[in-house]
Amino acid sequence: MKTLIRGGTVLTATDTYVADVLVDGESISAIGAHFNPEQADKVVDAAGAYVIPGGIDVHTHLDMPFGGTTTADDFASGTRGAAIGGTTSFVDFAIQGRGQTLQQGLDTWHKKADGKCAVDYAFHLIMTEVNDQNLKDMSSVVDQGVTSFKLFTAYPGVLMSDDPSIFQAMRRAGEIGGLIGIHAENGPAIDILVREAIARGETAPKYHAITRPSALEGEPTHRMIVLAQLAKVPVYIVHLTCQEALDEVTAARDRGYKVYAETCPQYVVCSTDDIGKPGFEGAKYVCSPPMRDKSNWPHLWRGLRSNDLQVVATDHCSFNMAQKEMGLAGFNKIPNGMPGIENRLHVMWEHGVVKGEISPNRFVEICSTNPAQIFGMEKKGRIAVGADADIVVWDPNRKHTISAKTHLMNVDYSAYEGWQVSASPRHVLVRGKQVVADGKYVGQAGDGQFVKRGRV
Ligand SMILES: [Zn+2]
Repeated sequence: MKTLIRGGTVLTATDTYVADVLVDGESISAIGAHFNPEQADKVVDAAGAYVIPGGIDVHTHLDMPFGGTTTADDFASGTRGAAIGGTTSFVDFAIQGRGQTLQQGLDTWHKKADGKCAVDYAFHLIMTEVNDQNLKDMSSVVDQGVTSFKLFTAYPGVLMSDDPSIFQAMRRAGEIGGLIGIHAENGPAIDILVREAIARGETAPKYHAITRPSALEGEPTHRMIVLAQLAKVPVYIVHLTCQEALDEVTAARDRGYKVYAETCPQYVVCSTDDIGKPGFEGAKYVCSPPMRDKSNWPHLWRGLRSNDLQVVATDHCSFNMAQKEMGLAGFNKIPNGMPGIENRLHVMWEHGVVKGEISPNRFVEICSTNPAQIFGMEKKGRIAVGADADIVVWDPNRKHTISAKTHLMNVDYSAYEGWQVSASPRHVLVRGKQVVADGKYVGQAGDGQFVKRGRV
């Protein structure tokens, strides 16, 4: 099966040029000018549009248990949303439950995803227990193409690991070609602030943000960077939200440390104004780290321009309002997380490219090319001969209104309800197969395959 993507402007992390792209089977086989459409079985129209490598969202939580409930989106609904929004691969977090082996955690997530995904998928592994056996087993996890491990300095008693555990996991990952992801918030200190706030009767959603101050993100970001440097492992700070944490990353990178960091769309376009909305509305914006003051936005955009932030991912973790209402009596019981896998490209183009914060090439770099390179997805994130034909025909004039009424995610609200965006995907291909045609999802569950990632 040969597909010709015709008449578009190829937009990559480095180049912008008019060209046709020929897809043979699952890969890109040729890029050039004025290919004869008769050599293809199918022609996809890209006139007036950009041809970009499919988006890669390296931070999602699908079918994940949290606080006595499970996310609204599973691997079927979440990935249909991904596809229609132009994301053709994602990396979800498998979790080693307490008392489980690493392999049991990984097997559980393989079962959740197998046969359901609309786009390609990979896993990170969250380690909740570090002991001799688990340290040993890390190499077999890496051999299976799961080359990144995430540890938490937050959520004591649930997901948090102490510094000695994290340091040992870091050293081991460094030895075996793995990467360490860190959720950097000082959980034990936050827990005290939360307990005191609840005791004072401060139960509204906005206190979720007030009890998680940005200083308590900056501090563990610094601490984890120091440990990682000593452990000789690259470290990746997930969902960075604030100036304090970014300053630590910037300083470490200036010293030549192997430190990477991502931010998420919600941290550059939403703020404490949203979580402070009246009534229970703010619960829609309860995630961790929390919404920050708007004064952080220019710092995050600066980081995205200057490459101190290399990646934008969503931390997609969706709960319906009925689930959020578990926290009506106290913000500390609101399930943490926001939906967004469908809207990452919409929001970053509109608020990044259209508003002049980043170039179109940088948009491709932070949404696709850098995630592929940092996480060892060698055939993805590029428009190049031999690369996987994960391609989005990105139409800069295809207006779209974001709404829970029309999105494909299985969640009953959108953090961006009613927002107008000027660009959206016209067509989407996953390894050569068209899954979105003229803005409509035409794929099937199971189109997406597991991606074995390389060592870092
Ligand atoms: Zn997360």
